[in-house]
Formats: sequence, structure tokens, C-alpha cells
Amino acid sequence: MKQRLFGKTSDGIAIELYTLSNNKGMEASIITYGAILVSLLVPDKCGKLADVVLGHDSLDRYLNDAAYLGPVLGRYANRIAKGQFVLGDVTYTLARNNGENHVHGGLKGFDKVAWKARDVSTAKAEALELTYLSKDLEEGYPGNMSVRVVYTLTDENELWIEYSATCDKDTVVNLTNHTYFNLAGHASGDILEHELTINADRFTPTDATSIPTGELRGVKGTPFDFTRPTAIGLRANQDNDQLIYGHGYDQNFVLNKSNDDSPSLAARAHEPKGGRVLEVWTTEPGMQLYCGNFLDGSIRGKDDTPYHKHQGFCLETQHFPNSPNQPSFPSAVLRAGVEFHSTTIFKFLTK
Ligand code: BGC
Repeated sequence: MKQRLFGKTSDGIAIELYTLSNNKGMEASIITYGAILVSLLVPDKCGKLADVVLGHDSLDRYLNDAAYLGPVLGRYANRIAKGQFVLGDVTYTLARNNGENHVHGGLKGFDKVAWKARDVSTAKAEALELTYLSKDLEEGYPGNMSVRVVYTLTDENELWIEYSATCDKDTVVNLTNHTYFNLAGHASGDILEHELTINADRFTPTDATSIPTGELRGVKGTPFDFTRPTAIGLRANQDNDQLIYGHGYDQNFVLNKSNDDSPSLAARAHEPKGGRVLEVWTTEPGMQLYCGNFLDGSIRGKDDTPYHKHQGFCLETQHFPNSPNQPSFPSAVLRAGVEFHSTTIFKFLTK
């Protein structure tokens, strides 16, 4: 595994960049700030490598990034309504950093902290462990939580992300990775022609502030039916209240799951020209599809590339948004002393 200094935070913390590689030429680079996936080199059908994730070349740009390019999100990824939830008999109050709601762990979530790194490679694959201690009431969440994320790059062109956490008080947790993919390469325009399949018969419609109403609505006959491969752009501008609320695709899907706890196929994306295919496998019950609706060209990414609307798509495997306030959703409560585990695999193929 390669390692180099990526930069220093304003309080002098050295941020390292680690590069994992496999025997197919794939490379995944991760920094200790935000556990961010900075770049991912993936072969196309002719074997040509391209960097398929949006990101920045320097730490300074990440420090000022408002689009969450590539980090691990926590303690609670996605939204918590009105920045409040009740656990036991205590009401916890969080930052309202998304209109009246809380999003992605608050003002200084797991995406904006320095993690500790350790090479945990085996004979079979290079792997990087990142750990972080989130203190009691940091960003308003109860309990001291130890979080561990392991990125592994296998020779089968899979990037595994394994999350685990324990806390000394009852708390809530929802961990995901917020990588924007563009399978033609990060600098190659919009993703509207990527063909997407999502293994979900239902999604969680929201109110106008993107908080789920609690309904699990069938996708059939809606622009959210990705049960067969469909170009992302085909229905993205349909007259639909959910697309209006999300400014495009920004909704959580209820993944079709079998009963066991092993990762199951959540989604497949195919870029027809270069032929790269991304499969997402996960143990999580949900997945947010977000299509870079708020990118507007003002963010300049790697190689000074302006990132425009729809330049990337995120497939954020997760528990459903606002689960702490929605008892009918799969629970995001983590009991004191219990170990939380979750796995997501980004697998690359060509077609
Ligand atoms: C959210 C979007 C938000 C984006 C941040 C996504 O997970 O669902 O609403 O704008 O993250 O860049």
C-alpha cells in the first residue's frame, strides 16, 4: 500500500493519503480526513483506466467542500426531521443544517474529522482500517461511539466498505459513503445516459423538505421504477411532486431483501460507451439515489474540472431517512455495548 502526506488541517493535523491496488490495475485512494474516497481507477471494456469518482486534488478544497464528495457520513447519514429525536425519555437536539432538518451528522460530522489509519492488508487483498472516537454529545448525539471503517480492494475488482461501531450509551447510527460516481470518468460530463437498475419495488416518498412520510410506495408506474435498466435521464424531469421536492432524484429506495444478513444486490449502473458496470451490494435496508442535483459548476474538482449538475450519482446504502422518528422503519437504534455492523461492496465489471 502506498502512503503520502496529503496536507495539514488548520489545526496542524497531518492528513495522509493511502492508495490500495489490486492485480487488475485498479487503485483506490483514501484520505484520513473524512475517510474520503478521493479517487478510484477502474478499467473500461478495453482495459483503459479512468478515475470514476468526483473529488479534489488538495486537502484545502476538501476543507471547503459543501457537496460531500466521497466521505463516510455519520453519526446519522441523511436527514433527521427538525434536528430532534427521543431515545428512552431524553429528547436529543441536533443542528438544523438542512433547512429545518438535520443532515449528514451535523455541522462537523464524520466527513469533517481526522480518522486514524492502519494498514490491515492480508495476503489476499490490500485493506485500510480507519477509526474514530465520537465523543458523548458530539453534534448532540448520545454516548461515546467508537467507529471503524475498513476499505478493502480485492482482485475481483470489488471495493468493500465494512462499518462497525459500539457505543457506551444507547444511540442512533446510520453510516454510509457519499461517493459521486461517473463511470465514464469524473471529468466526462453528466451521468444522464448511465443505465441504472435498482433492486427495489418500493421507495419512501417524502414531504417537501425531503422527510419520508412513512409510506412505502410502489415504484410501478412512477419515475422511481428502476427494476429494469433505465437511463437515469429518461424520466428525471417528469412532472412529479417527489422529483420537484428532490430537485431531481434524491430519494430513498426500500431494497428488496432476502432474509439472511449477507450483502445482497442493491443496484447496477452501466455506462454504455466505455462499458463500465458498477454493482452495489449491501446489508443495509435502504439506498438513497442522489444525482448531483445541487452541483452547479462552481465546485472545481480534480484537474480543476468544474462539476456541473448531474456530473455524478450517489448510491448511498443506509437506513431510511429519519428512522429515529419513524417507528415503522427498520430501527437505527444502537444499544449500549452492542456491536453494529454493516457492509457495502462496490463491484466493477464491464459489458
Ligand atoms: C442528500 C441531498 C444532498 C446531498 C449533499 C444527499 O445524500 O440526499 O439532498 O444535497 O446529499 O450533497
